[in-house]
Amino acid sequence: MILETLPVGPLQCNCSILGDETSREAIVVDPGDDIPRILALLTKHQLTVKQIIITHAHIDHIAGAQRLKQLTGAPVLYNQNDLPLVKMMDVQAGWLGVPTPNVQAPDDTLDDGKLIAITGLTGNILHTPGHTEGSVCLYLPAHTLLLAGDTLFAGSVGRTDLPGGNTRKLLTSIHDRLLVLPDETIVIPGHGASTTIGSERLANPFLQT
Ligand SMILES: [Zn+2]
Repeated sequence: MILETLPVGPLQCNCSILGDETSREAIVVDPGDDIPRILALLTKHQLTVKQIIITHAHIDHIAGAQRLKQLTGAPVLYNQNDLPLVKMMDVQAGWLGVPTPNVQAPDDTLDDGKLIAITGLTGNILHTPGHTEGSVCLYLPAHTLLLAGDTLFAGSVGRTDLPGGNTRKLLTSIHDRLLVLPDETIVIPGHGASTTIGSERLANPFLQT
């Protein structure tokens, strides 16, 4: 698998490009900004984007999705429970002091258990509400890889003080859906350094009970 993770935009959201070496098909996760850099990496690896997956509808994760869709033709997928956050994109833009991006309803919703497949790459959606109502993670068991959005970070967890946030739901999501994955699962969070499920289960101060 081709895997490129690049921090994009002022909040340095981790955008990931997952590509298959044989089919040259790719999934782009959380193209929040810096679309020219994302396109350059796709060109470098000769990849064609088939799906654009958004872990949740915060502006730093979703702002570039429509632009990438226009340029590649790939559908934009996210969980419909985050539509209220899309409707307040102007408010979100105000938090950052940036222009309101063009964000549309998803081409398809990412419900729990949904299979995500391009030629050569398969994953499934884990609905993990808490950071937002529609937060999801993408799990690729064959690659022991989890793209965790803003649900779980190295040594921390997602904030729950923004609209739609709920601490109890967040911790339940992490304990019931993420910590049950194999220890060796590599976690790419929505911001900051990568980690593993095993090290977070052992040492994450927010997850000790
Ligand atoms: Zn977020």
